Parts: sequence; structure tokens; C-alpha cells
Amino acid sequence: MTQKQKPVIIIGGGISGLSAAKRLKEADVPIILLEGRDRLGGRAHTLDIAGNQASWVELGPFWIEDHLTNPAYHLLRDIGAEVHQHDIGASTVRIYDQRSARWLGWTTTLWAFIKLGWSFSRFGKLRPNTSTFNNLGERIDVVLGKRPKREHLYLFKIFSESLNGGSTCDTHQNQLSDDLWEFTNHDEKSQVLISGGFRLLVELLRDSLSADEVMLSQTVSRISIQQDTSAQAPVQVATADGKIFEGSHVIVTVPLGVLKAGTITFDPPLPTSKQDVIERIGFGSVEKVVMTFKNSFWRRNPKKQDHFFSIPDPIASHGSFFDVSMSSGAGPGSPTSPCLASVFGPPKAAWVAENPEAAVEEALSELQMMFPDTFEPPVATAASNWTTSPFSGGCYPYTSVDTQPGDFIRFAEPTHHGRVLFAGDTCAVGVGLGYVEGAMAAGERAADTIIATVADSQ
Ligand SMILES: Cc1cc2nc3c(=O)[nH]c(=O)nc-3n(C[C@H](O)[C@H](O)[C@H](O)COP(=O)(O)OP(=O)(O)OC[C@H]3O[C@@H](n4cnc5c(N)ncnc54)[C@H](O)[C@@H]3O)c2cc1C
Repeated sequence: MTQKQKPVIIIGGGISGLSAAKRLKEADVPIILLEGRDRLGGRAHTLDIAGNQASWVELGPFWIEDHLTNPAYHLLRDIGAEVHQHDIGASTVRIYDQRSARWLGWTTTLWAFIKLGWSFSRFGKLRPNTSTFNNLGERIDVVLGKRPKREHLYLFKIFSESLNGGSTCDTHQNQLSDDLWEFTNHDEKSQVLISGGFRLLVELLRDSLSADEVMLSQTVSRISIQQDTSAQAPVQVATADGKIFEGSHVIVTVPLGVLKAGTITFDPPLPTSKQDVIERIGFGSVEKVVMTFKNSFWRRNPKKQDHFFSIPDPIASHGSFFDVSMSSGAGPGSPTSPCLASVFGPPKAAWVAENPEAAVEEALSELQMMFPDTFEPPVATAASNWTTSPFSGGCYPYTSVDTQPGDFIRFAEPTHHGRVLFAGDTCAVGVGLGYVEGAMAAGERAADTIIATVADSQ
């Protein structure tokens, strides 16, 4: 392809934008990638919280799901990255009930997980045409019955809310099972953490790009498309500080939350049908508090990971603590520190994003309550703010009560005579919607569409 060709402008340097850029470069199509933050990776954000190269923890994604078939894993494996099985099941989990102020025994925990699996299968059988529910919360209530046990209600709620990012009463009644199923039945080797985190994937994708192709701290505010799309540079992209970039196409990979906020103006505007879809699809809120300590004081067996849940009183979707120590080193074989990630689902997530210090305090006081004899203060902590950040506006997409069949496909369709393409995890229909591998696939798909168009025009 000719180097005189105008570049494809990619908006957003998360996994999707970087994957699109890599693909286009491989096909010799010129690119410019504009990223609003002063770092690449977007929601994939691994931080060395104690600054000791041994406390790398994820503020965004931490799991590679179904790793054997996951392209993210295969890319990482090729550079020698190491992964660790991260099993969340009855054998690795303890449940603490704040109301009774005691740990529920292993048998109760096991039964809670069995009940979750059983409820899940009933959940699928309760067809919406035989019972009508307005939302996921109503359907869960019917499945669990009038007086559900606290641990059953809590597990159902926390898994579904942190997987969707939406509260159960704002989530579509049929948004269910596949995700919950993963938690109760997933293949033991399937859910893994990466030593050194998703940072390695971001670096790997970035390495294929040169410094003059990637521009940080460039917040895009306007995308203009000429009426005469046969013009040499039909697309103009303007940044908040007044820079203008010209290109042949634009790939928009900003999160759905950013499009919902309307901070990027399209000229001419997006078709009304697209605007409606942007409104109807949900974009959830999940936040994390991450902590590193001198000792893993929560472990029953010093050599084994231990996850635990503290059922809040009244029940809300916070209280989950995941032991992420095994992946906190800088890479294969490097030293690790004891680390925990505490996950806050909606509606608590918005509060965390606005009050990170109070959220850290809350997570620590829960730890102190659960482990009064062994608790120790943290070495370092951090909290995410995906919900309030102007560069994300939430965590990941979900099917809200308003979402209609076909909405995700419509969302992924190009506009403006094919000059504006959409990528990012909300476009990943059928290939990991809302996940890292989906973001990769959507970026590559948008790039392939342009590569085919350019080839046709030559
Ligand atoms: C808390 C949390 C937990 C998660 N857990 C998992 C998990 O365990 N496994 C998994 O696979 N996935 C998980 N995910 C989802 C995963 O992080 C995303 O699917 C994926 O990272 C999305 O990549 P993306 O490139 O589509 O979007 P992003 O990473 O959001 O990239 C979009 C980029 O656009 C930039 N941008 C936004 N606005 C502008 C603008 N106006 N101008 C220029 N640039 C702009 C942003 O700064 C960002 O860099 C999780 C996400 C969160 C938040």
C-alpha cells in the first residue's frame, strides 16, 4: 500500500485501539493513534502499588477467561509470560457473615455454592414467556424463593452485579446464566491471572508501533466527516486543545460510557438509530480497592491462595476479597508480595470512585473485623475510579432492561459511509463482549474492514 495514503486515525489506546493499530501496521496502512490519558492501556491498568516491582495489581481486568482459547493468552504465551490458575469455588473461598459476626463453616460454604449452581439451572428453566419479570432482580427473587438464606442471596447478587456492572433491577431479566455459569462450573484451568498483569499485553501491542504514531494526552472532542467522501482526507479529528488531524477513516474505540456522555461531537451527527442504541445498552460500574501487605495474614495455609467474602449487613454487593498475590511479581519467577483486590459492584462503585480514601478505609475495617488477631496495616493501597473518569464513564457493557435484540450488532456498525468505524469491547458481538479478548477482536475487525476497503480501491 502506498505511504502517500492518509492515515487511519484511531481514537483510544486501550487494548482495542492498540490491536487495530497493530493490525493496520502489519498491512502497511499508515495510522495515528490519539489517546486522551497520559498512558496507554485504558481500562487495562496494572499498578506497582508499593513501587517495589513485586506488588503489580490490576485496577481493571485481572482474569484471562477460557485461556486456552483466548487470543490474549496466546500472545502472552509467545513472549514467555506466566499464568496462574485462579480458582474461585467452594474449595478456595470462605464466607463471613457480618450479621452473625462469624465465619460460615466449610460445609455451609460448599452448600451455598451448590445452591448457587442449582438455582442457576432453575433460572434457565424459568422461561420469561411463562413468568414475566421486569428485570434480573425479580427473576432472582423468584428463583431463590420468599426467604432466601443470606449467603445464597449474597452470592447470587454479588456475582451477577459484578459481572454485569449493573444493579440487578436495571439489568435485563434474561441477562444471566453464561456468566454465572462460569463462576460455578468453569473449567478448573480456565480462569488465570498473568504474572506482571495485563501491562505485559499493553507493552506487547505498543511495541509494534513507533513513537510518532502514538500521541498521548490528546483528548478528542470532535470528528468531522466531509460530505464528499471521495476527498483525499474525508475525516478530520479535533482535540480539546485545538489540534486537527486528517485521515482516510477513523476508528472510535472509546468506551460506551464516553459516547453516552456525549463528549465527542460527530459532524454530521451520528444517525438517530445509533444514538438510541448508545442510550439503551448499559455501561456498568465496578470499582476495585487493591492492597499490599507484609504478610498474607488472611491465609489458612500460607502456601495456598484464599479468597473470602464478607456478607454485608444489609446485603449489598461489596465484601469480596480476592487473593491476587501470585501474579504480583514483575514477570515469570520474580518476587511477589501478599496482595488483595476488593471488588465493589453497583451501587457502591460510584461511591468508591468519588471517595477512594473512604473506600480503602472500609475495605481495611472489614479485614480487621474478619481477622482481628492477625490483621496488619497495609504497605500500600490504591483505588480505581472508572465510573467518574471522563475517559471511561463506567466499567463494561451489559444488557440493561432497555436493551433490544440486535442492539450490540447495531452499535458495532460503521457510520458516515463507512468512514467512521467502531471498535472497543462493546462491539465484540460473539467474541467476548465486555472482555479483553473481545476488545482485541473488535479492533482487529475494524482494521480488517479498512484493509479490505483500501485494497479494493487500488
Ligand atoms: C474493574 C474492571 C474489571 C474487569 N475485569 C475483566 C477481566 O477480569 N477480564 C477481562 O477480560 N476483562 C475485564 N474487564 C473489561 C476489560 O477491561 C475491557 O473489556 C477492555 O480493557 C476494554 O478495552 P477497550 O480498548 O475496548 O477500551 P479502553 O481500555 O477503555 O480503551 C479506550 C481508550 O480510549 C481512551 N479515550 C476515552 N475517551 C477519549 C477521548 N475523548 N479522546 C482520546 N482518547 C479517549 C481511554 O483513555 C482509553 O485508553 C474489566 C474492566 C474493569 C473496569
